[in-house]
Parts: sequence; C-alpha cells; structure tokens
Amino acid sequence: MSQDISRRRFLTIAVVAAASAPLALRSLSAEAAAPAPAAAAKPLPKLALTDATAKALAYAEDATKVKHAAFKAGSNCANCNFYKGAKGSASGPCTLFPKNSVVSKGWCSAWAKKV
Ligand code: SF4
Repeated sequence: MSQDISRRRFLTIAVVAAASAPLALRSLSAEAAAPAPAAAAKPLPKLALTDATAKALAYAEDATKVKHAAFKAGSNCANCNFYKGAKGSASGPCTLFPKNSVVSKGWCSAWAKKV
C-alpha cells in the first residue's frame, strides 16, 4: 500500500518536473537574452494594419470607428487588459503583439476589460 503511494508520488513528481522543465529553460534563456535596460526602453515599432494577426483580430487604430460585432461601446486598447502602455500614453505594448506597439485609442476583437 505505502509502496503504491510512494510510486504514485514519484510518478506525480516526475510528470510535474517533466512538464515544467521547458518552462524553466525558456525562463532561463529569456533572462540570458534579456536586453540591456537602455535597449529595453527603445519603443516598439507601430503595429501595421496589414499585419496578419492584426487583420485576423480586426485591429483598428480608432475604436470610435469600429463596426465589429464584438465591439463594446467605450472599449479601446487603453482600457484593455492586454495593453501595457503607461496611463495616458498615445501608444504602448500589447501582450498579443509582442513585437509592436498599439494605439491606445485602437481596438481589436481580442479586447478584454482591464482588471
Ligand atoms: S488585445 Fe487589447 S490592447 Fe491589444 S490590440 Fe487588442 S484591444 Fe488593443
């Protein structure tokens, strides 16, 4: 009985370790590849409306002109949970577009209310 529990516990630990190893390695490599503070301050290039993901998510730079079925009145990048720009900024990073900045007055169909 206790051998069963030990075996089960060992297998659980092995599965958790195997599952988390890639995450740990990714974290380590991300730290190694982390840019110097001066480079991190460099602004991201503006998201192009022609970007494939932007198109797929119906990204627009002016939320007031959006006619998308998923659009909720008053929603825009600035009040989206994925927007990481400073409060009051004209543009900033978005978790969904890690290589670009988005317009704070923009919108896309992935909008989620800021928590
Ligand atoms: S996920 Fe949010 S912040 Fe990013 S583009 Fe869409 S609405 Fe803007």
